[in-house]
Amino acid sequence: MSVQSSIEWTDATWNPVRGCSKVSPGCKHCYAERFAERFRGVAGHPFEQGFDLRLVPEKLADPLRWKTPKMIFVNSMSDLFHEGVPDEYIEAVAQVMIQASWHTFQVLTKRSTRMRDLLVSKLRFAAAQRNIWWGVSVEDRRYGLPRVAHLKQSGAAVKFLSVEPLLEDLGPFDLGAIDWMIVGGESGPGARPLDPRWVRSLRKQCRESDVRFFFKQWGGVRKHLAGRTLDGRFYDEFPDRQVEVVPDRSTRDRLVASVQHVSPYFVPVAALSGD
Ligand code: SF4
Repeated sequence: MSVQSSIEWTDATWNPVRGCSKVSPGCKHCYAERFAERFRGVAGHPFEQGFDLRLVPEKLADPLRWKTPKMIFVNSMSDLFHEGVPDEYIEAVAQVMIQASWHTFQVLTKRSTRMRDLLVSKLRFAAAQRNIWWGVSVEDRRYGLPRVAHLKQSGAAVKFLSVEPLLEDLGPFDLGAIDWMIVGGESGPGARPLDPRWVRSLRKQCRESDVRFFFKQWGGVRKHLAGRTLDGRFYDEFPDRQVEVVPDRSTRDRLVASVQHVSPYFVPVAALSGD
């Protein structure tokens, strides 16, 4: 079974890495950390080790088993470009995303310099793929806006910004070559406030630069009360998705075998189970 997601801008999550560490103000109330630490020490639970970084090679081939095309958020519980993840492991993740071309993968990072440096070198083979959307988090001017520049330097074919949690007015900035922007406020205990004027400014800039705009949520302590409409409507725009024929089961079996063959990180898997 794939892992269905309640995140508004994706269909499913795939976590070949678990755990992370904080790098900037957007991490302050990290939902992944909060979730993972609840299970620290629970024997047999996927987060038995809490939010400590851990590779999960037994999950690497999962998207090749999911026959229904999906938008897949890669590492919703981690950051693929965390300094503790070896280059070779990131390459293995990229190989799966390329092989599973009937899906659309959404890779989001705060480690934008490492992502850029790999996309112009070892991951060049993956940068041009239109079924992989490469994105950076932008929560403020100091930490977030430099990531936009790094993303532009990456050579990625499809580039997106996750402006969430938006913590201040970002002011005008160059959205040239950016395909998609997600905007949202922080939710949960201690949520920091979101000013509607910051959101309207971003919507205006997206309109002027032909960037698809997705408004995720206002957030707050009880986010469902605040909703996700902006000036009376929803904004649920996405980049155009690549449409690919889904291979039959035996072909997908062969794909799993082939990626297992080329990467030392792949572990033997059971027969495909479908969705
Ligand atoms: S980079 Fe993302 S997953 Fe990692 S601590 Fe920050 S918010 Fe959490």
